[in-house]
Amino acid sequence: MLQVKSLTKTFGGFKAVNGANLDVKKGEIIAVIGPNGAGKTTLFNLITGILKPDSGQVFFKNEDITGLPPYIVCKKRISRSFQVVNVFQRRTVFENVQVSVLARENKTWNLFTPSKKLVIEETNRILESVGLIDKGDDISAALSHGDRKVLEIAMALGGNPEFLILDEPTAGMAAEETDRCIDLIKQLSEKMGLTILFCEHDMELVFSISDRIMVMVRGSTIIQGSCEEVRCNEAVQDAYLGGSDVCLM
Ligand code: ADP
Ligand code: MG
Repeated sequence: MLQVKSLTKTFGGFKAVNGANLDVKKGEIIAVIGPNGAGKTTLFNLITGILKPDSGQVFFKNEDITGLPPYIVCKKRISRSFQVVNVFQRRTVFENVQVSVLARENKTWNLFTPSKKLVIEETNRILESVGLIDKGDDISAALSHGDRKVLEIAMALGGNPEFLILDEPTAGMAAEETDRCIDLIKQLSEKMGLTILFCEHDMELVFSISDRIMVMVRGSTIIQGSCEEVRCNEAVQDAYLGGSDVCLM
């Protein structure tokens, strides 16, 4: 479904992404792991068109989407959430999801189409699917951190994606919230048939839900393989765990 080939992005001479490779098959859950600064977020920004690569290519369903602007990438049904929570704080939970659905439909709030009537059903369906239906009327700023991260996923779903990219979905969450988020990601994959690419520091989560894992260090792909292959790979041990001889997990 998605293929990244030798992607490179330089910031003022510094290679943040340096020949990254990735392939994701339809229906898979793929994790990207790597230390802070490895280039994971930059890679996601390159795939979604927020940044343009210096070289390399991104293919989505065999179509070259390299360097296309974010709104076009979104129309191809690739959506993402951000590492740093990115919601309209003073709007309700419902409105935040509603606006993401409206954005997809190319509709906007105006005098002639009372916003409340638009896409109510779909917005509620999304809120239901992520477990936020009871909080639809809450002001987003009042949500717990965990709920706000889930709201971000709900907003990504507003684009009706086939391919969902989650940047550290559980960052800063309490243990209980993390468990809920794991269940949600599994459900999005199993029940809604989404293909999911995410990056995450919580190794327990990574190994419990990923079909395959890509390991990124200093902008480059070290390996992409099954959990087993990655767990005891020597290069991963050296680079990622600083030479520890204990297997991951
Ligand atoms: P990760 O998500 O794996 O922690 P990032 O992709 O955020 O890593 O960052 C990779 C490297 O690129 C870091 O050293 C970061 O400081 C640098 N970087 C990221 N974005 C920019 C930018 N817009 N300008 C300059 N340097 C950047
Ligand atoms: Mg990051």
